[in-house]
Amino acid sequence: GDGVGPEIITAARRVADAALSVAGVRGIRWIEMAGYGYDNGLGVTEAHLEAFGEVGVLLKGPLSIPAGTSGSVIEARGQAFTSANQALRQLFGLYANVRPARSYALPWPTRFGDVAVDLLIVRENTEDLYCGAPEVWVDKDTCQATKRISRGASARIAEYACALALQRQAERGAPSLVTAVHKANVCKQSDGLFLEEARKAASAAGLRYEEALVDSLCAGLVLQPQAYDVLVAPNCWGDIVSDLAGGVVGSLGLLGSANVGASHALFEAAHGSAPDIAGCGVANPASMMLSAAMLMRHVGEAPAADAVETAIAAALAEGCATVDLGGAASTGDFTDAVIAEI
Ligand code: NAD
Repeated sequence: GDGVGPEIITAARRVADAALSVAGVRGIRWIEMAGYGYDNGLGVTEAHLEAFGEVGVLLKGPLSIPAGTSGSVIEARGQAFTSANQALRQLFGLYANVRPARSYALPWPTRFGDVAVDLLIVRENTEDLYCGAPEVWVDKDTCQATKRISRGASARIAEYACALALQRQAERGAPSLVTAVHKANVCKQSDGLFLEEARKAASAAGLRYEEALVDSLCAGLVLQPQAYDVLVAPNCWGDIVSDLAGGVVGSLGLLGSANVGASHALFEAAHGSAPDIAGCGVANPASMMLSAAMLMRHVGEAPAADAVETAIAAALAEGCATVDLGGAASTGDFTDAVIAEI
């Protein structure tokens, strides 16, 4: 990645190595691949694709993606993609984007005081407005984009979200609630189709289930975030709602994410390259540490993943927090504090 990518990847690796070592895991080998930022013009090379193809899991830094027409096409394996992220998601079938958003206790007043927010956003990751269909110029002043929703992809993400909801239910001993996010009052056919599959999956899983229009959900999440649990959404709404959830819990720097497919999985911070703070040593690396924890859990190293999550919560509870959360710790200070808690 570029921007804050190298800073937070370095921090996450240090923390992951410390947790793996304390958990007694030996023989982990990292394959480091040069950041594929637009700043170095590297894009996604065949070497990146081969390494990911072979290893199966990838911890990736955020990547700047220029808006508009400049530099907006990435070539990979003979296909054109709107970004390297899209290339990786499409080429490896990473259909589920999982973004947990939880609030942490800090020793100073936060927005929600004692209200604990613990959301799991499950976003369809391959279609919708981001399906890669070329935008079409209807005339010189009108451009039309395609929103594609398929029954297969909707069913697959709804079933994936319900499986995670059942897992949460078992872990907590309390019923999970699945909220399907949509705009089917306007996108009647496409989001309507998404809802049909969400209903079916929730009913088959025997889960509590509700539906929420994405616009009113945004207000609901700000006013009463504790009323929600697992959110399942088409690609575009899921993208927007997860950043909203980042704001609700205090910072985008607290959101890790997993992009999961049938055979491969990519883990990255939910946020972008944060160019406004890149190189300043102030980025909150918790997002990338939590992504690394998700990676470790994915490959069966749950004790190391637990250790990272607990250590982050402990460091924050003691007041070691980066600037985005109202603290004064640098990226390195926070990383040292987390490692000290492992
Ligand atoms: P951003 O998520 O990079 O940053 C938004 C705001 O949040 C900024 O003020 C930033 O400083 C702050 N922020 C983000 N992460 C932080 C952290 N870890 N610690 C402290 N503060 C943090 O969004 P943006 O500025 O709109 O996008 C920058 C670039 O990233 C764009 O080119 C965008 O396309 C790209 N992007 C990439 C990915 C990805 O690689 N997966 C995801 C989203 C955006």
